[in-house]
Amino acid sequence: MARCLQLAGNGAYTAAPNPLVGAVLVHGEHVLAEGWHQRPGEGHAEVRCLAAFGPEPVPADAVLYVNLEPCSHHGRTPPCVDLMIARGIRTVVVAHEDPFDKVSGNGIERLRSAGMEVRLGVMEEEARWLNRRFITSVTEHRPYVILKWARSADGLLDKMPRSERRGTPISGSSTQVLVHRWRAEEQAILVGGRTVLNDDPELTVRLVEGPSPTRLVLDRSGITPSCSKVYSQGPKTVLFNALHRSDVQVEQVTLEQGPMPIRTLLKVLHQREIRSVLVEGGARLLNAFLEHDLWDEARVITSPCELIEGTPAPNLVRPPFRTMVMDHDIIDLHYRSINPPASAPPS
Ligand SMILES: [Zn+2]
Repeated sequence: MARCLQLAGNGAYTAAPNPLVGAVLVHGEHVLAEGWHQRPGEGHAEVRCLAAFGPEPVPADAVLYVNLEPCSHHGRTPPCVDLMIARGIRTVVVAHEDPFDKVSGNGIERLRSAGMEVRLGVMEEEARWLNRRFITSVTEHRPYVILKWARSADGLLDKMPRSERRGTPISGSSTQVLVHRWRAEEQAILVGGRTVLNDDPELTVRLVEGPSPTRLVLDRSGITPSCSKVYSQGPKTVLFNALHRSDVQVEQVTLEQGPMPIRTLLKVLHQREIRSVLVEGGARLLNAFLEHDLWDEARVITSPCELIEGTPAPNLVRPPFRTMVMDHDIIDLHYRSINPPASAPPS
């Protein structure tokens, strides 16, 4: 099962909105074949594992390990349970049930009624942690929310006046590489209009090999310049505004004026099958997620520099679950909904 989870992790940048799944076919002490799910529309882990094994009959005492309940519905591909039954698999070990409505125990039931022995609950905690984005999405009907901010040693988000801030990043270079990896792991990245106005960020993945997430800008007062980098170059951007703008050539979604529309925003993202969003600021937007208690992780980078003046960073009262040190930065990892198992690597 540990190998299944390792294989499943290969899809971390590409499998969404599908879950991360790995499968291993074992005979005695030998691994006969392996597979993992790479991207939507392509073969599920079980299919790829059995394809890798080849057309010959599967030995009767072989065991198929898979970290998520095999699917029993016709989605983008035919159900895996049909294939497993047809290929004569007799024993299956599964980490946990698929919380997705259309599967949710049906897959296991179908395998059992076909006479297969199904063992459930092996490395379940680790497997649920690996698929926390998918599981949160299908059970809470909203994306998994990761808040991220960098603050100075004196607890400020940025330096005043803002014009002097550009090009003087708060955090060190290794930390910035880490932040780019964090971006590559999520489907979307969200910032407020003021962050675009002040920093003109690209919000892309540049320091690691990986896909850039969809960029989301919440700007209901229309303060973001049309020449901003998020509007003029790079990956897809969606602008959430109150009034449609004809000077900006990106997709636009109109939201009501009034209080911070966190729930509406998450609902729109969920409808688009966005399983996770990284919120990178600014202070008002981050605080709104904290106040609504609509977040799952907060990753807080504290640099040794002092800014003296600036916007106060959001204040998380509870202590971090884990703390890492990188360059001269301290990285605090907070988890609201689910804590990582002891065996999980940091962040
Ligand atoms: Zn499947």
